[in-house]
Amino acid sequence: MFDYRIESTEGSARAGTFTTPHGEVPTPAFMPVGTQGTVKGLIPEEVAALGARMVLANTYHLYLRPGHELVRTLGGLHAFMRWDGPILTDSGGFQVFSLAGIREVRDDGVVFKSHLDGSAHTFTPESVMDVQRALGADVVMAFDECAPGGAGRTHAQEANERTLRWLARCRARFLEIEREDGAAGAQALFPVLQGNVFDDLRREHAHAVGGMGDWPGYGIGGLSVGESKDDMWRVLEVLDSELPVGRPRYLMGVGYPGDLLEAVARGCDLFDCVAPTRNARHGTAWTTEEGQVNLKVARFRDDTRPIDPGCDCYACARYDRAYVRHLVVAGEWLAVRLVSIHNLRFLVRLAQEARTRIAGGTFETWRNDWLERYRSAEGYDSTATLHANEGEPR
Ligand SMILES: [Zn+2]
Repeated sequence: MFDYRIESTEGSARAGTFTTPHGEVPTPAFMPVGTQGTVKGLIPEEVAALGARMVLANTYHLYLRPGHELVRTLGGLHAFMRWDGPILTDSGGFQVFSLAGIREVRDDGVVFKSHLDGSAHTFTPESVMDVQRALGADVVMAFDECAPGGAGRTHAQEANERTLRWLARCRARFLEIEREDGAAGAQALFPVLQGNVFDDLRREHAHAVGGMGDWPGYGIGGLSVGESKDDMWRVLEVLDSELPVGRPRYLMGVGYPGDLLEAVARGCDLFDCVAPTRNARHGTAWTTEEGQVNLKVARFRDDTRPIDPGCDCYACARYDRAYVRHLVVAGEWLAVRLVSIHNLRFLVRLAQEARTRIAGGTFETWRNDWLERYRSAEGYDSTATLHANEGEPR
């Protein structure tokens, strides 16, 4: 279980298949985010119809509401949300550091205040393993300290050291739970690599994590938190040379279409981002020829083309921009659903196309052409880019 088979490569880009207890995930793959146990506005059959194989859910949110023990009692997250494909849960660390209120970071864990009612809670490496076991995702993430974007070297180094100590405790608890419930192999534990934009810290941390043993996959954290794109690409290149080839690499919280292609080119396999559904709620869609467009603008008033003429999603097959714009402007729920379906399909399909191109040896040429076209249109109507994954609270 949790085997990762690489089928073809082109440069650092890889096409492979990740096997989980709930099915196979062809990579590169984009994972829609189901923050609260639902990909906002879509039923699981619609998510599957987009071609998505694996979805993500947020430990922090589900721990606070409805509570992991209730989810366990109701059969675990797969049964609870009626999704029988693979699921990945994050550790809650990112939300605690970015979303929760006043907090205290101690060596034993993090004390935080719920964003729902202000109640005080503590996450420790052990408790986060327990919560993720109760939720029952296929892939669970280690509890890490994500130093904020722009953090200085000392802060980043301290966060790395703490993340490493917490990782050892996560694994000890993970193995202990496996012995207790006798279900070894039901879940895979991925460590989270930190180190901000400091190449030597990134290298050091990747070494130290690798030195702790063989991991079934790696989470790359601490990126898309406000650093420059150049920093992000350079860090990915550093990690590409440090990480074992035959394990999936999950770039956490990335990304936008262009970012996804750049990261695939640098050896990343799995992606997640709340932008497709969050942008949909703002009436913002991605298109192949025109980049990111705001569907509210007047020029779409009588535009009879689909959102993206090159797209094969339900929304593009059925409706024109004039109608979708009307729904967006009128604040109709269907607008959010249609644009969510389109944006999610756009990213899922982009990852699928990357996979096909890698297999055919034409990824690099295709990527350059695609990015050139997309970027030359970027800015043409594009609204401010919303950054990073704070877990989409509302
Ligand atoms: Zn579409």
